[in-house]
Amino acid sequence: MSEVPPTAGLPLGLGDFLPAPALSFEQSLATFLKVPAVQIECSGTAALVLILATLAAGSKRRRVILPAYTCPLVLLAILHCRLEPILCDLQPGHFDFDLQTLSRLCTEDTLAVITTHLGGRVANLQPVLEIAGRTGTHVIEDAAQALGANWQGQPVGMIGEAGFYSLAVGKGLTLFEGGVLLASRDALRSKLRETAQKIIPRNIPREALRVAQLLGYAALYRPSGLALAYGIPLRRALKRGKLIEAVGDNFPADIPLHQVGFWRKAVGARALRRLPAFQSELNMQAQQRLKRLASISNIVALTDAPGDQGTWPFFMILMPTRAARDAALDRLWTARLGVSRLYLNALIDYSYLRENIASEDTPNARDFAARMLTVSNSPWLNDAGFESICRVLEANCRCAGAPG
Ligand SMILES: *Cc1c(COP(=O)(O)O)cnc(C)c1O
Repeated sequence: MSEVPPTAGLPLGLGDFLPAPALSFEQSLATFLKVPAVQIECSGTAALVLILATLAAGSKRRRVILPAYTCPLVLLAILHCRLEPILCDLQPGHFDFDLQTLSRLCTEDTLAVITTHLGGRVANLQPVLEIAGRTGTHVIEDAAQALGANWQGQPVGMIGEAGFYSLAVGKGLTLFEGGVLLASRDALRSKLRETAQKIIPRNIPREALRVAQLLGYAALYRPSGLALAYGIPLRRALKRGKLIEAVGDNFPADIPLHQVGFWRKAVGARALRRLPAFQSELNMQAQQRLKRLASISNIVALTDAPGDQGTWPFFMILMPTRAARDAALDRLWTARLGVSRLYLNALIDYSYLRENIASEDTPNARDFAARMLTVSNSPWLNDAGFESICRVLEANCRCAGAPG
């Protein structure tokens, strides 16, 4: 039985494991992104830890603003650096910050604002840069799922002070776990390297584990292998009602920090050569399928603003109500078609995080979490499968009646 992955990852081939390529992974990535240099770390979260630690070392400010709906690892990275997380609510029906709330929260005590290019969609950076600029606050771009995306012609991650991409499984190009660190200014780039030399050790057993995991990914990331690696554990977790396990939101508080070995980077460099063609295939498929999604009344598929070019690992779809979302997921989540949820909750609603967050009401983030589902943009989801998903979405919007 074949299984569609929830996100469109770049499959690895045998050729990716052969001798090292001529250019280093860092050099090839910098060329691909059209940036001066990149730094490879063991995860997106590790990259964020380095950014925060470096910025905090040069400042007395301790507060870091983050979106009230994002990956829980972002919050854990802030706590790891002993900084104070401040949740900012979203705009209704979007992942961008509510700007009035952001202006109120962003003060002379704010070290940084972390803005997110969620799920490959491009954030509206201009107002964030303006608001942060008024108080001398740094802007950090979380572009974890947006390697290859552009904001107004510039690569995301390079518009604020610093940014990062994730190379984890499911985010596109992968080293099984990995992160790419970017900074817009030379001075910060060299400081980030110094911080890494100080706080990122070698860990040979951990690197050996990652090599084995990357080989496992190469073997199983195909329609016939994904049931074993993804589908069966997913359906088992759902059957037991363990939603946090089902989406993989149960992160440990301690963040692994170690250097990425030469061999995994060489795999990345070889796989990267196929990324441009893969991304343009995904983009073409996404543009086609967005038309079909737009024909379904009462749902919204998130897109990019004019002048922005995101990446398309999956579609983020807002249903009219939580009940409609849940009804659609009842039919689709276990259907092997790559329909899923992104992060389960607004950050405030994870029991394992709540004690670390000053209570701030974030109703729009809660609503976004309650109404969103994701539809894979993997090339392995064929037209018939995609159409059957659209029919279920249509049926459940009708049941839900008029949108609120
Ligand atoms: C995955 C993700 C991260 C963390 O990246 P890792 O490489 O898994 O550590 C951070 N932010 C967002 C929005 C993500 O999707």
